[in-house]
Amino acid sequence: MKKIIIFIGPPGSGKGTQAKRLVTKYGYGHISTGDLLRALQQEQNVAPKIAAALEGMKQGELVTDWLIFELVFAEIKKCITAGRGVVLDGAIRTPAQAQGYQDFFAREGLLHEVVAIEIKLSDEVAMGRVFKRKICSKCGEIYPSATSSVIPEACTKCGGKLIVRADDNEEILRNRFKTQGESANAPLRTFYTDHKLLHTVDGESVVEKVEHDIDHILQAP
Ligand code: AMP
Repeated sequence: MKKIIIFIGPPGSGKGTQAKRLVTKYGYGHISTGDLLRALQQEQNVAPKIAAALEGMKQGELVTDWLIFELVFAEIKKCITAGRGVVLDGAIRTPAQAQGYQDFFAREGLLHEVVAIEIKLSDEVAMGRVFKRKICSKCGEIYPSATSSVIPEACTKCGGKLIVRADDNEEILRNRFKTQGESANAPLRTFYTDHKLLHTVDGESVVEKVEHDIDHILQAP
């Protein structure tokens, strides 16, 4: 199985949910740039340069590439050195980032380990999901509306309080779909198609079917 799995898809496509499933099944490291950036936002004494880079995130803008590279490359190296694969969840959102990662993978001798999987669904369906989802404020577990007809009061894993993410509100969400939605992802799709790395799964299916389709791609010789 390839060691570097890149998930592409709009907010609400299930990237995080599917990444967590792969982590449980195969022991891969889960690198979610959204989680890493939210953790940075909570820190008290971040360098002014980083605080400035995080500002746009509050409005649903993408943060600058250098911060993404700085956060993610070190994590990838850690996992690979420990003999684990990695799932990159939302870590690549533009062709410029994709090229930066390819250059990094080339430097590290990892180009042959890369597979990109797009979880494809319409912005309309994705947006509907995001409005209804909740996350655990303690462990980050995602409670997608698509899978749980009744979302529990507290996290079933750690008992933490379930909250709506700050950037899951309507105005910011519209901006996030402008920068990260179906059409915004088109250049990224072209990039990975040109590099013969792209696979696509139907993200509008139920979670188990999406998981099955992803497994099918990963298990292919
Ligand atoms: P997510 O949790 O994946 O929805 O990401 C939350 C926010 O983090 C996004 O709306 C962006 O502002 C920022 N972000 C996450 N990943 C990236 C990335 N690869 N490049 C730029 N910004 C990102």
